[in-house]
Amino acid sequence: KLGNETIKQELGRASWKLLHTMLGRFPEKPTMDEREALKSYLYLFGRLYPCGECATHFRLLLQKYPPQTSSRDAASQWGCVVHNVVNERLRKPMFDCGTIADKYHCGCAEEDEKKRK
Ligand code: FAD
Repeated sequence: KLGNETIKQELGRASWKLLHTMLGRFPEKPTMDEREALKSYLYLFGRLYPCGECATHFRLLLQKYPPQTSSRDAASQWGCVVHNVVNERLRKPMFDCGTIADKYHCGCAEEDEKKRK
């Protein structure tokens, strides 16, 4: 039982990391196609996430908080809010969404270049 909980938590941490990093790199001015891609990704994530209980909750969250895809900022803030809703349910600390832009980095060449300027 403890083993399963540990694995579920590791999967959760890895998944949130990927999700927040993706949203933090989403275009600032996305095309309709990019917006549609993000929306599809999130709904498919809700269908395919391997922890069934988590996926069920996440699908309810998607209904209550439809994905915001109009800009990088809107998408990142949306991700932060839904993660906080999950935190609340699991009685974990709330995250300050004002600081999210500084937290997630992709380690990509383009990003590093931008920072050096
Ligand atoms: P995590 O919640 O995994 O967070 C990792 C790190 O992200 C934190 O240490 C913090 O630095 C940062 N962070 C925290 N909050 C935010 C935020 N709002 N925005 C940005 N960054 C933040 N587990 C269950 O037991 N039951 C469930 O129903 C469940 N549903 C889940 C649904 C989804 C879609 C996902 C991805 C995970 C779910 N999990 C669920 C796993 C759970 O959310 C945690 O990932 C897991 O419990 C490990 O928690 P943690 O304390 O390491 O921090």
